[in-house]
Amino acid sequence: MTDIHSGEVSRFEPVPDHEVENIGIYSGRVDGHINITAPKPVEIDFVAPTWDSVLASAKVGIAGPMRATWKKWKDCTACSLHGGRQQVVLGSGNPSTPKYLLWGEGPGEEEDQNGGPFIGRTGQLLSSMLNEVGINRVTDCYLGNAVCCRPAKNRTPEREELLACRPRLQEQMGVLLSRGTVRVVVLIGKPAFVTFMKGKELQRDGFNVGSVPIGRNLGWVEQELLPKGWPRVYTVYHPSYIARLGHNPAEMAAWKADWEAIRYWADEGILLDPRK
Ligand code: SF4
Repeated sequence: MTDIHSGEVSRFEPVPDHEVENIGIYSGRVDGHINITAPKPVEIDFVAPTWDSVLASAKVGIAGPMRATWKKWKDCTACSLHGGRQQVVLGSGNPSTPKYLLWGEGPGEEEDQNGGPFIGRTGQLLSSMLNEVGINRVTDCYLGNAVCCRPAKNRTPEREELLACRPRLQEQMGVLLSRGTVRVVVLIGKPAFVTFMKGKELQRDGFNVGSVPIGRNLGWVEQELLPKGWPRVYTVYHPSYIARLGHNPAEMAAWKADWEAIRYWADEGILLDPRK
């Protein structure tokens, strides 16, 4: 692992194995519900200004520091997902000086076709929200997924698949954190949260990924639960969940508050916690 403050490089242990449900920061939350008062409707334009460059970055291939990782994993057959993919979707964005690392679930149909994460309809929703709160998806972020190959019919990745793809994610994290520029790691949805924070459980036969209550784990992960030198980690709902709710104004407002808190910490060093 690289200590981003000292620059010292030590053994990389990117995924802590902790029971984060037990920690106090999340107490009082009801799974699946967001406590906000007087929600402000949010207008989301589905076409973000940076969309052309998003698509362009997905099609130009893997740049710079990620090239070696991509070469290693592009023909991977470590789990059954390889049988249904068109290509391994490693990631896109800024691999050299990212401020935010965004990890989602897995490629959908359009991502599988184009080779970049978050470029389908829900990806556009994410891109619009990032734009709304002042995060540039192309220059500020590096985006990837918990699994690199498309699960059939966009189903949630299973335990064995998350486990098989975890070393690849660890490798990417090692490269990206070594740049020393990352301010926030954002876990988008349950598979990303489980991959990062439920390492021990993932190794257990029969562990049901769907049993993890994501709603109870939204917000900042306590820094004490993370390896030394890590940037802050924040868990948010996946845009597909927000879209499934029909862009419910209250949920949209809460989702926006999450992204604003992430941006505030990265740019201002101010730790807002809208989930408490
Ligand atoms: S999802 Fe990950 S582990 Fe499975 S085949 Fe694709 S690259 Fe390999």
